Amino acid sequence: VSLSYDVVIKGGTLVTADATDRVLKGDLEMANGRIVAVGGEITPKPGARVVDARGMIVMPGFVQVHVHLCQVLFRGHAEDMPLLPWLKERIWPFEGAHTPETLAASARLGIAELLKGGTTCVMDMGTVRHTDTLFSVARDMGLRYVGGKAMMDKPSFPSLDEKTDASLREADDLASRWHGAEDGRLRYAYAPRFILSCTDRLMRETAALARKRGCMLHTHSSENTGEVEAVLAATGKRNVHALADLGYTGADVLLAHCVHVDDGEMELLAATHTRVAHCPSGNLKLASGIAPLVELLARKVPVALGADGAPNNNRLSGFTEMRLSSLLQKPRHGAHAMPARRAVRLATIDGARALGIGDDTGSLEVNKKADVVVVDCNAPHLRPTSDPFTMLVHAAEASDVRHVFVDGKWLVRDRDLVGVDDQKILDDAEQAIDDVYTRTRLTSA
Ligand SMILES: [Zn+2]
Repeated sequence: VSLSYDVVIKGGTLVTADATDRVLKGDLEMANGRIVAVGGEITPKPGARVVDARGMIVMPGFVQVHVHLCQVLFRGHAEDMPLLPWLKERIWPFEGAHTPETLAASARLGIAELLKGGTTCVMDMGTVRHTDTLFSVARDMGLRYVGGKAMMDKPSFPSLDEKTDASLREADDLASRWHGAEDGRLRYAYAPRFILSCTDRLMRETAALARKRGCMLHTHSSENTGEVEAVLAATGKRNVHALADLGYTGADVLLAHCVHVDDGEMELLAATHTRVAHCPSGNLKLASGIAPLVELLARKVPVALGADGAPNNNRLSGFTEMRLSSLLQKPRHGAHAMPARRAVRLATIDGARALGIGDDTGSLEVNKKADVVVVDCNAPHLRPTSDPFTMLVHAAEASDVRHVFVDGKWLVRDRDLVGVDDQKILDDAEQAIDDVYTRTRLTSA
């Protein structure tokens, strides 16, 4: 990973995502990993690197609050299935076949894609085992990473099942090793997979452990009608109420999906400030549905975006999720719904706030960590120049990202990962998916 330089980005259009959504012309300076000046003309100090951003938009990095780096390797290998068979027949057997080597290949592939597409921070749900591997890869590649092992102590799939006490102990050991590491760039989140794969005791004791350490809790809820019915059958309650009974509401809880939530559940999410990860591509591809984003936001439920797993997307693009978050609401609520400016906030500062790190990242403001993306607009699909929010949400693509900084470190430079052998990441992924197939004995897609 490259060193942290003083850098001045000159001559761009700065989409700040600050409290008043200012758009500024001019320069941005970072030093010692933080943003030290935003807007106006800045004279670079001796030795500072200068980035020419004329004709480009400078924005905070995307914060994707729900991804599965462990599944990136299975992209294109679990097509055209609804959630529960998709999990049981493809994703869980694949996850259960991961070795530390195949998991590392998956994480490297995912982080390469994320960084090159302008995502600087994720909340990642791991698989059951080898979680140190995910943190090590995130540490080495420079991504801001919040994540944790998936916990599954109810028989779900033989090669993933674990015992309650062992699961709790492993999660807590991981938190002690990784939470706050790399000057706070890595954070642990306790991640029971979903109610159907966890005992009540695991859910309750996990919540207590997370709160003792000040870590987030992350789980899935109300993604698909089959899952909602199964939770209703198992608990007698709708998903969000069942989670509330187990301690899973509050500003430290992030629920992925919430596609099928009723008014009472939305009121409860709002009253408790529980966070929601909206994953529009994943919800469409598994035919799960369209989350009531406008209704959630109207109730002031904190919502942010995520690409979810590569097998149900199949991209990890902040641009794609941002555009869908806007487009999907328009047929339901009218063309005025989810304007581009709102979608940019969902994809950046609202993500940081959902993860409890809104004071550190998510916007271009002095003293925040320098998680900064430069989008090159010198391309036909981004001309003529118009409102920068509209350009970012409705026209720009991941491949338009030219430079990416995390903690002030220059990780993507002129569209290349600095100090990383991209070809090796691609080759290792091909080898790793072959290895996974060999161990699962599934038929290849
Ligand atoms: Zn998920």
